[in-house]
Amino acid sequence: MNNQRIYLSPPHLSGEEELYIREAFESNWIAPLGPHVNAFEEELANYAGIRGAVAVSSGTAAIHLALCLLGVKKGDRVFCSTLTFVASANPILYQGAEPVFIDSEPDSWNMSPKALEQALMEAVKEGQLPKAVIVVNLYGQTAKMDEISALCEFYRIPIIEDAAESLGSTYRGKKSGSFGHFGVFSFNGNKIITTSGGGALISNDDESLSRARFLATQARDPAPHYQHSQMGYNYRLSNLLAGVGRAQLKVLEDRIEARRAIFRRYEEALVNVPGLRMMPELEQSYSNRWLTTLTINEREAGFSVKEVLSALDKENIEARPVWKPLHLQPLFLKNAFYSHNRGKPISDSLFYQGICLPSGSSLTPEEQARVIQCIYEVYKKAGSSLLMP
Ligand SMILES: *Cc1c(COP(=O)(O)O)cnc(C)c1O
Repeated sequence: MNNQRIYLSPPHLSGEEELYIREAFESNWIAPLGPHVNAFEEELANYAGIRGAVAVSSGTAAIHLALCLLGVKKGDRVFCSTLTFVASANPILYQGAEPVFIDSEPDSWNMSPKALEQALMEAVKEGQLPKAVIVVNLYGQTAKMDEISALCEFYRIPIIEDAAESLGSTYRGKKSGSFGHFGVFSFNGNKIITTSGGGALISNDDESLSRARFLATQARDPAPHYQHSQMGYNYRLSNLLAGVGRAQLKVLEDRIEARRAIFRRYEEALVNVPGLRMMPELEQSYSNRWLTTLTINEREAGFSVKEVLSALDKENIEARPVWKPLHLQPLFLKNAFYSHNRGKPISDSLFYQGICLPSGSSLTPEEQARVIQCIYEVYKKAGSSLLMP
C-alpha cells in the first residue's frame, strides 16, 4: 500500500520560479531589492485592486509595520480576532501595546460584529478606544467586513486586514485584503502561494506605503552618508524571493481552483456522515479555501476530532485542529476578551470541534481518497449503522 506522507499544505511550485531566479542571478540582482521586488509589488497591487504594495520578509513584519504606521505605542489598545495564528497578535506586543481579543461568529468563523460592538462601547466608557482593529480572514474566508467596517468607521478606528490566509478570496466582488486601511499577505511556505518566506503590506494610502518602505530599510534618511533620525527595521523582501513570488502569482487562480475542488470533494464525500459540518462560505463571498476545515459534533458523529487526528497520523497523513484561540493561550491569559454570546465562546467550540484536512493544491485525488477512506474507517469503528455515502 502506498503510504507516502500527505502534508497539510505543502509548497506547490509552478516550474517558472527558476526562470525568475536565473534572471536575477544573470543580472547580478542578488542584493536585496531590485527589479523583481518592484515588479512583484506592482503585480500584487494590481491583483488586489489597490494602489500599492510593499514586499517584506514576512506577514508578521507587515502587521508590525502597519501598527507602527498607525502610531501604536506602549499602553495603547489594539483589538484583534481571537481565532487566529499567534502572528496576528505578536506585533501588538512588539509595540508594548495591549491586545484585546474578539470572539468569532458562527457564519464566517471570523470576528463577531456583535462582540466587536460590545468591546467598542465598553472602551468608550473606559475612555480608551483602540488604536486599530486587526481583522483576520480565517482559512480563506472573509470576515463580515460590511458590519465591521461600519462599526470601525463610526468610532474612527483604522482596520488592519490580516489576509495572510485569504489571498485571492473576494467579498462582494472586492479582493480580500483591500478592505482595511492596511491589508496584509503572507507568502510563508504553507500559504496558497509562497516565496518560501515573505509577506506584503498593501494600502491605498501612498504616503503610508512610502513610509513603510522607509521603516523597512532601517529608516535611512536621504543623505549621501548613513544618517538616521528614527528607529527602523530590516524587513524588505529580497529580489530573489520576489522573483519566486512573481512566478507564483501567475498561477494563483489555478491554485484557488485546485483548493476549492479539494474542498468540494471532501464535502461530497463527507456530507452523509452525521455530525460533520464543513466551514461555511459567507453569502456574496468567494473563499480561496486555503484549508478545508470542518467541525465534528462528537455526540452526533460518535467520534471526536482527536480520534480522527490519531487515525490520520497512523496513516502518515498530516492534519491539525483549528487554531487555538489567542484568549486561551498562556501568553495572553491576562488580556481582555469579548464573547459573541453569554454562553461558551464560539471560538472555543470551533477549537474543540474543528479539524483542518490536507488541502495542498498539489494533493492528488488518490491521496485525497486515502484521507477520506481513513475518516470512513473511524466512522465505521464508531459503530454507526448509517450507510456509507
Ligand atoms: C501565516 C499567518 C501570518 C503570518 O505570516 P508569516 O509570513 O508567517 O509571518 C499572520 N496571520 C495569519 C492569520 C497567518 O495565517
